[in-house]
Amino acid sequence: MFFDALKGELPESLSVDVCIIGAGVAGITIAKQLKNEGLRIALVESGGLQLNPDVQDLYNGENIGLPYDPLDACRLRFFGGTSNHWGGWTRPMDRVDFEKREWIPWSGWPITLDDVAPYYEQAQNLVEVDGTPYDAEFFSPESSTNYLVDRANIETKIFKLSPPTRFLKSYKVDFNDAHSVVVLLNSNVVDFVLSESGKTVQAAQIKTLAGKNTAVTATHFVLACGGIENARILLNCRKANKSGLGNDDDLVGRFFSDHDGILSGNAVLGQRLLKSTFYQLHVPEIVRKAGLNTRIVPAFTLAEKILREKSLPNFNTYVLPVPDNAKAKGSLSIYPDIEGLVNFVEGTPLHPAGSRRFFQLVTAFENTPNPNSRVMLGDKRDALGLLRCKLNWQRSDNDEILARRLTMEFSRQFALAGLGRVNIDKDNIWPQKSLEIGRHHMGTTRMSSSPKHGVVDKNCRVHTTNNLFVAGSSVFASYGFAQPTLTIIALALRLSSHIKQQVSRA
Ligand SMILES: Cc1cc2nc3c(=O)[nH]c(=O)nc-3n(C[C@H](O)[C@H](O)[C@H](O)COP(=O)(O)OP(=O)(O)OC[C@H]3O[C@@H](n4cnc5c(N)ncnc54)[C@H](O)[C@@H]3O)c2cc1C
Repeated sequence: MFFDALKGELPESLSVDVCIIGAGVAGITIAKQLKNEGLRIALVESGGLQLNPDVQDLYNGENIGLPYDPLDACRLRFFGGTSNHWGGWTRPMDRVDFEKREWIPWSGWPITLDDVAPYYEQAQNLVEVDGTPYDAEFFSPESSTNYLVDRANIETKIFKLSPPTRFLKSYKVDFNDAHSVVVLLNSNVVDFVLSESGKTVQAAQIKTLAGKNTAVTATHFVLACGGIENARILLNCRKANKSGLGNDDDLVGRFFSDHDGILSGNAVLGQRLLKSTFYQLHVPEIVRKAGLNTRIVPAFTLAEKILREKSLPNFNTYVLPVPDNAKAKGSLSIYPDIEGLVNFVEGTPLHPAGSRRFFQLVTAFENTPNPNSRVMLGDKRDALGLLRCKLNWQRSDNDEILARRLTMEFSRQFALAGLGRVNIDKDNIWPQKSLEIGRHHMGTTRMSSSPKHGVVDKNCRVHTTNNLFVAGSSVFASYGFAQPTLTIIALALRLSSHIKQQVSRA
């Protein structure tokens, strides 16, 4: 049932079993999952059912680090959250993404892929991608083109494209008549009431832009407000502890990361790769324009054994056609003997005149977690009186080292496999500005086994509390290269099971 605070429908108080804060991807997933479990649920959402500039302005903040999107443009603050404009790229994380690796300081989760894997299939259903594996070999027979399975050191990673599912449009209906779920719209959580010990959250305090207040009491609380806002809300809860809630060790807001991208070289493709339509489906626009049913995007990476042997981060590389003639001419000047080069690679004649031969490699890689990259509070206040966000996004020095190393190794293996030749512009591998392939806000309430290294435990519970949980990519301890939303949903489903078990045991 929906109640809109700006229409005077805010209850004076509300008591439930589970209070979920934020009706975005994570919050809606958990509410959907728990709504038929005999629990009373409140789903508290800052916005309404459409964008309202006054509500969206609550996301305004300051960027003081590397150039980044305005903070009110890289997320959306109404029912459905940022799914109202996400791109729909999905892929589970890889096993290696959960592991501690010495060459990536601070890497590693306290859980493994096995803890999350059971939830990926249901997560795929929720974003309307089919339940088939993200496995290149699975798709190769259908592709009827020469999928390059025989290249031992170079592997193909598959992304699947959601329609993209808008959680407002697809899942509002689940709550229209659901008596077990009270959805409070235009209701902002601004603080938590804690027990005397400071360990138990007793109520979430709610404030509206019209100046009305209420509180929701519950036995379990889930903060699901997105990768930046989860940290900002905890930092703003300063009544009991000036440093914020869950922040005894000054870790809330640290380790902010996005997925970074680099232009990792210009490539001349060998015949076989050039002919493979499988690898030409690299951007969703091309897939859709071609009217294909399959919504997959293949990209290259290196075999896991090479990532380990060469101490590389996990990454993927797309092969993109150089879009205009001017750039193609530029590529020609880089390759004075281009025809000889391609012939050398493949030992076959050149491609038919007029075919596209010049390509750019775009690499997305996992950044090294950096404690100095952080969400902090600024000096200015929003219309609710909360201190606005100040984001200081910084890459780790390790990122440049690893990006250079992986570019060299990938290019070497690409050539050895006979896929083509890559020209690396060493001076420009490392850009000052991100390629903006992300807008994935991760790491600010990272998962850890010890409170000394993170904010939430392996069940997403804030270490310093008994009953406050965090959902979303803020819990990611290291980041992989896959877009985060499928894993956000899988973790939200896992958290739902955990809460259900806890409530039934109580
Ligand atoms: C342009 C763009 C493209 C993207 N493309 C992709 C992609 O292709 N693949 C992918 O995996 N990811 C993509 N993402 C990221 C994806 O959108 C997010 O990972 C996902 O939406 C995060 O889900 P969430 O539930 O954690 O947060 P959100 O979906 O942002 O939801 C947070 C909710 O909390 C509410 N809220 C905030 N503060 C409060 C408060 N104080 N009280 C109550 N409610 C509050 C907000 O209104 C919002 O509804 C993209 C993002 C952008 C911006």
